[in-house]
Amino acid sequence: MQKLVDRFGREINYVRLAVTDRCNLRCQYCMPAHGIPIVAREELLTFKEMYRIVRVLTELGIHKVRLTGGEPFVRKDFISFLEMLSYNDLLEAINITTNGALIKKHLEKIQALPKIKTINLSIDSLHAEKFKKITRRDVFSEVYEVLEVLEKSNLHLKLNVVVQSGFNTNEITDFVRLTAEKNLTVRFIEEMPFNGNGQRTMEEVWNFDKILKEIASEFEIKKLETPKSSTSKNYKVPGFKGDLGIIPAFTRTICNDCNRIRITATGLFKNCLFDDGVFNLRDFLRNGASNEDLKSLFLSLVKEKPKNGFIAEANRKNGAISESMSTIGG
Ligand code: SAM
Ligand code: SF4
Repeated sequence: MQKLVDRFGREINYVRLAVTDRCNLRCQYCMPAHGIPIVAREELLTFKEMYRIVRVLTELGIHKVRLTGGEPFVRKDFISFLEMLSYNDLLEAINITTNGALIKKHLEKIQALPKIKTINLSIDSLHAEKFKKITRRDVFSEVYEVLEVLEKSNLHLKLNVVVQSGFNTNEITDFVRLTAEKNLTVRFIEEMPFNGNGQRTMEEVWNFDKILKEIASEFEIKKLETPKSSTSKNYKVPGFKGDLGIIPAFTRTICNDCNRIRITATGLFKNCLFDDGVFNLRDFLRNGASNEDLKSLFLSLVKEKPKNGFIAEANRKNGAISESMSTIGG
């Protein structure tokens, strides 16, 4: 089998696919209150196109897909797409990142699909009022209920907490305390400027070191073995049921072992979160490309993968970062 390997010898085996650019929430760090301009439906990849892209990628060694967005559960028939993807025998794991507000009614079906291994649930505060302020929507109780169900399920539950200076930094240790009794992983993410031109001012920079220091001020933590390509550095408070991680998303100290590519909801291929999209797969497909054409394309595109996120950012052609994570697929 031909494999996707970049110029630095990094093997690419993981794709993050945004299934939509739409979202039911309006998180402050992701988009402005009025939302972001969404694209016409025809510009989004269809599920059939996504299936085909993933199939070709799995024939080149990709074995894990993360479905994200926007909010994946906003897209009609997303559950049927999960079922469809499960038929891909080369795919080992399908993981989903969601805000959880719409998924309660789908939980049984999700749990019945064995390839779905991990759900990343975004929750930035444990207080309903603050949660509402951050997401600009009043759905804390729905999200927390889903958290409780998933924690007891056969799925690995990871909580995504974007650390927002002046908003939720006083809750970092509360989130760690949650791992005492709950079988889940809390991951603290450095905030990045992907906010759709939303007005954001940060009082202080909460980077990896500062987050770690805050945790260590209250807990004695033990470092866990981290798989080479993991996005997070992982820790545990000995005796606690769950564990925790910190994702240096903005300080980008994890790029050396990157094993990922991304595809946006409109079919833009991205070698790095910080690049501005290097190829339009949708038009390539719609112009009649065969699976063999797609394969050759992917093999050559990954050769352009930049060494790290700083180089990717410096090489951007469309100006400084301002797009929303909802468009890119977080
Ligand atoms: N709507 C889903 C959700 O919120 O989980 C999936 C898409 S969202 C863009 C994916 C992840 O990106 C979420 O965990 C979210 O918190 C994170 N995210 C969004 N904007 C971010 C930013 N500016 N900096 C860091 N993380 C961000
Ligand atoms: Fe929506 Fe997720 Fe962005 Fe929040 S972070 S606005 S839930 S896409």
